[in-house]
Amino acid sequence: VIELGQAEHAIVTTCAYCGVGCGFKAEMKGQTVVRMTPWKDGQANRGHACVKGRFAWGYTTHKDRVLTPMIRQRITDPWQEVSWDEALQYAASEFRRIQQKYGRDAVGGITSSRCTNEETWLVQKLIRAAFNTNNVDTCARVCHSPTGYGLKQTLGESAGTQTFDSVMFSDVVIVMGANPSSGHPVFASRLKRRLRQGARLIVIDPRRIELVNSPHIKADFHLQVRPGTNTALLTALAHVIVTEQLVAEPFVAERCDPASFEQWREFVARPENSPEHTAETTGVPAELVRGAARLYATGGNGAVYYGLGVTEHSQGSTTVMAIANLAMATGNIGREGVGVNPLRGQNNVQGSCDMGSFPHELPGYRHISDPVVRSQFEQAWGVTLQPEPGLRIPNMFEAALEGSFMGLYCQGEDIVQSDPNTQHVAAALAAMECIVVQDLFLNETAKYAHVFLPGSSFLEKDGTFTNAERRISRVRKVMEPRNGKADWEITMELAQALGYPMHYDHPSQIMDEIARLTPTFSGVSYDKLERMGSLQWPCNDDAPEGTPIMHIDQFVIGKGRFMITQYVPSDERSTRKFPLLLTTGRILSQYNVGAQTRRTPNVAWHSEDVLEIHPQDAEDRGVAHGDWVGVQSRSGETVLRAVITDRVQPGVVYTTFHFPESGANVVTTDSSDWATNCPEYKVTAVQVTRVSQP
Ligand code: SF4
Repeated sequence: VIELGQAEHAIVTTCAYCGVGCGFKAEMKGQTVVRMTPWKDGQANRGHACVKGRFAWGYTTHKDRVLTPMIRQRITDPWQEVSWDEALQYAASEFRRIQQKYGRDAVGGITSSRCTNEETWLVQKLIRAAFNTNNVDTCARVCHSPTGYGLKQTLGESAGTQTFDSVMFSDVVIVMGANPSSGHPVFASRLKRRLRQGARLIVIDPRRIELVNSPHIKADFHLQVRPGTNTALLTALAHVIVTEQLVAEPFVAERCDPASFEQWREFVARPENSPEHTAETTGVPAELVRGAARLYATGGNGAVYYGLGVTEHSQGSTTVMAIANLAMATGNIGREGVGVNPLRGQNNVQGSCDMGSFPHELPGYRHISDPVVRSQFEQAWGVTLQPEPGLRIPNMFEAALEGSFMGLYCQGEDIVQSDPNTQHVAAALAAMECIVVQDLFLNETAKYAHVFLPGSSFLEKDGTFTNAERRISRVRKVMEPRNGKADWEITMELAQALGYPMHYDHPSQIMDEIARLTPTFSGVSYDKLERMGSLQWPCNDDAPEGTPIMHIDQFVIGKGRFMITQYVPSDERSTRKFPLLLTTGRILSQYNVGAQTRRTPNVAWHSEDVLEIHPQDAEDRGVAHGDWVGVQSRSGETVLRAVITDRVQPGVVYTTFHFPESGANVVTTDSSDWATNCPEYKVTAVQVTRVSQP
């Protein structure tokens, strides 16, 4: 036992949980962490931190860590411990065998938003150069891919526009489909400080989140939207802004594409988009919509912060575009206190997207079909790249079930637990001939794996993470990797085993390659990160010290583009058989599927997923507080303990997804965003019935 205060030295690094990206000092005694202290000079957190970053790092030394590579020929065989060389050679030979038998595109890879930029870069490079296919995707597919698409279409860059500090200049804040108090606590603290100073608050959420009515804070408007109707609600807000002449005409005239604006103005002004007309669909009274629209348009600096309650819908991309439309129409872009700000769930969602982990885009969001961009990478990497987009994650599953996708390299992502419709994912994985899982633990996905490569934690490697405000921060090795290798070294050696040599002595050399090939990163280096503490991209000759606020004088695409946001009802509608709508979220002390937080030795982390149900719906079903209830959907059924609360509205139930035993994704369906295939986790039509025991 190491007592607090015994630290011999401290190393500054970055939290590996949420997209706030807090800086920490790891206080060390030898190879042991004594404690994690929020770094007062951290530019994202300024000395603040939440319970996860501060206390939930014990998983790095948990007994469940697998430290030796393992292989097995069939998933019913026992695992066999082998050397690194044997495991990597076996994986490489299996991938090559599959490519010879089924074709070049029968293999692919999934990168993780928890790994560093440098590791993600190497995985997509391995897939594109060594496998010579574009079948690479990221777990951001299932969270913020609509942000990338929607913001690129409207503002021209797939990223948020501000710094977190910017909220201190906001007069009106819209929080939509996010619960910062649980998901992004350090940002929530800053937001609350601004609200206590008098900024006004509009919450758009089906559930009464803590911000709606917390000590000293009361939202001016809570638009308690029915799950699946975000687009209709935002278009109604736009209707008020247009028809009540609240548009920032000088901004729109100077900064935005006039043809797209006129089409949009005509569209949103139609009577069917009025708050009165859409109230029945959205469940939000018209007078609340009118009041919120007036406040956002006339209340001063207006900022929107949004989360997965916006993106994880069949109209996720449309909703992101609707937010950008509102910001442009009201002139809330390009200065402190305004903007469109996605709250990224994981530490490196932004970075994993920036690094080209999408099947259609090379790093820096440049389309794979662009021959000029492709040739830059071909010269640098010494290969001919494929010009056609590869498979997205859900398409990989479909191809596996059809027999044309047989080999998967999966780094740092538990797709069985994370992706929707668990039974479908499991069937697809069971159909593949070689799955290589690289992770800290034998997770649910590893049950279907043939090769297990032990991964390294954030404390055991060097690299960078990019947070939700595009801030690139250093991750520093505070202890030697317990498994013997950092993840970037494993990918590099797998490439070598595949006959595609990669040579890097340190992740700084990978960052140098990223900077050479990615215009928005061309001014980034480890030396500069040491000097500056962190850098917000774009960081290049035009902005050598980075870019805290984007689109100041003009949009990346020149003129901002308004997009038509026609509401299309979700397939997931309440029916007689499935009359309730299930939506999901997080609690403060847990993180995603809980692989890390559940392995934290502290009773505060011993909780369970529960089902929140409105008193009226509970009474209709004879359910009492604490009863076990079965939750059935078109996809499957799970059992949860009922919590009766009016935080949820009648007709809506809510749960979290942190525990494999409750398996929320057993019930989520295959519905997904029309543009990006981001799953519609936030709306599932279900029935709830009282059951005796799970
Ligand atoms: Fe880590 Fe996010 Fe908490 Fe900061 S707010 S300590 S980044 S989990």
